[in-house]
Amino acid sequence: MSAKSISTVTAPVPAPVTVPVTDPEIRAELQALVRRWVEREVMPVASALEHADEYPEALVEQMKEMGLFGITVPEEYGGLGLDLLAYIAVIEELAAGWMSLSGVINTHHIAAGLLVAHGTDEQRSTLLPRMVTGEMRGCLSLSEPDAGSDTRNISCRAVRDGDEYVITGTKAWVTNGERAGLVALAARTEEGITCFMVEKDPGATFGGISVSKSIGKLGYKGLETVEMVYDAHRVPASAVLGGDEGVGKGLAAILSGLEVGRINIAARAVGVARAAFEASIKYAQQRQTFGQPIAAHQAIAHKLADMGTQLLAARLLTEHAARLRAETGRAEVEAGMAKLFASEAALDIATEAMRIHGGVGYTTELPIERYFRDAPLMIIGEGTNEIQRTVIARGLLKRYALEE
Ligand SMILES: Cc1cc2nc3c(=O)[nH]c(=O)nc-3n(C[C@H](O)[C@H](O)[C@H](O)COP(=O)(O)OP(=O)(O)OC[C@H]3O[C@@H](n4cnc5c(N)ncnc54)[C@H](O)[C@@H]3O)c2cc1C
Repeated sequence: MSAKSISTVTAPVPAPVTVPVTDPEIRAELQALVRRWVEREVMPVASALEHADEYPEALVEQMKEMGLFGITVPEEYGGLGLDLLAYIAVIEELAAGWMSLSGVINTHHIAAGLLVAHGTDEQRSTLLPRMVTGEMRGCLSLSEPDAGSDTRNISCRAVRDGDEYVITGTKAWVTNGERAGLVALAARTEEGITCFMVEKDPGATFGGISVSKSIGKLGYKGLETVEMVYDAHRVPASAVLGGDEGVGKGLAAILSGLEVGRINIAARAVGVARAAFEASIKYAQQRQTFGQPIAAHQAIAHKLADMGTQLLAARLLTEHAARLRAETGRAEVEAGMAKLFASEAALDIATEAMRIHGGVGYTTELPIERYFRDAPLMIIGEGTNEIQRTVIARGLLKRYALEE
C-alpha cells in the first residue's frame, strides 16, 4: 500500500445524547395518532387556510394538546422525551397534510434543542417547561438581509453594558418571529458570534424589537416569516445561551442545532413528496385516456416508478440521519445528504405530480398546486442545496483524507 492510503477519520466528539432511544411501538403509536388527526382535522381545511394565508390557530391549539411542542424535550422539563426518529415521523405526517404545520414547530424545536444541549440549568428550568406546552413559542434568528448562506458575515451587534447587552441590527427571514415568545438570536459580540435567548411578548413590537416587514411567499403560507429590527434592545447578560461560558460560541451551537433543522426539512420533504406521490398513483389509475387508465401508458408508469423510488430513498436517508444524530449527537454530513436528496426528490415529485394530473393539477381544486409551491422552499431553507453540497463534500474529504 502506498504511503498515502485512504483512512476513515475518527468521528467528531459527540454532544451529550439528550433523550433515550424511543421504543419503536411508541413511535408508531404517535405517528398513527398524528396521521389520524391530520386526515380528520387538517386535510379538510388546509387548502382554504393556505389560500387565505391564515394562521391555523385552532390546529396549533390541538398540536399543543398533543404535546407536539415538546416532542424531543426530556420528560423532566415536561416534554415527551422522544427521539429524533419519533420527531421525523411526526414531521412527515404534518407535512403530508400541510407543510406549514411542520414549520410551526421546526425552529421552535431548534431553539428548545439549543437550550437542552447548551443552556444553563436556570435557562433550561425556566424556559423549557413553558416551551413544551406551546405557551412560549420559540424561533431561530440567524439570517440577515445581507447574510444568509454566509452566516459568519452577520452584522447584528450586541454590546455589553454592565449586567446587560444592547442589541442593534436587522434580522431577515424570521419564521414564527412575530408569534414567538423566545428568539434564539445570533449576534456579534467582541468575542465572536454569540447566541442570545431573547424573551419577548408575542406581537409586532416589544421593547426595542419591532417587526419591520412581513415577507410575502410563494408557498409556506399561513405562518409568518418576518424581518425584525433590534433598535438598542436591552437583554440581561443571563440571556446568553450557556451563560458567560457561551459568549462567542453561538455560531458553533447554532450550526449544530441546524442539523436538526435539516433533518426536519428532509422529513417535511418526505411528507410533501408522499402526498404528491399518493395522489398521483391514485389519479393515474382513475383517469382514462385513449380507452385505458393513464397508468397503463408507459410514460406515466415510469414516472410513478421513479417517484416511488425517490420517495423511499429520501425516507431512508432521513431516518438514517435522524438515527445517527440521536445516537452520536452529530450527523453533519448525513443530515446534509438527507436534506439535499429529499428536497430535490420533493421538487421532482411535486413537478411530476403536476404533469400526471394534467390541467386539473394546475387548478386550486386539488392540493397538487400547493405541493408544487411548497416544495421549492426545501431546496433553500436551513442552508441552500449548493451549501449542503459544500458541507457534504468537506465532511467526506475529511473522512476519507489521504494519510501523509
Ligand atoms: C420562507 C423562508 C423561511 C426562512 N426562515 C428562516 C428562519 O426562521 N430563520 C433564519 O435564520 N433564516 C430563515 N430563512 C433564511 C434561509 O436560511 C436563507 O434564505 C438561506 O440560507 C439562503 O440565504 P440567502 O437567501 O441569503 O441566499 P444567498 O446566501 O444570497 O444565496 C443566493 C444563491 O447563491 C448561492 N450561494 C451562496 N453562497 C454560495 C457558495 N459559497 N457556493 C455556492 N453557492 C453559493 C446560494 O446557494 C443561492 O443559490 C428562511 C428563508 C425562507 C425563504
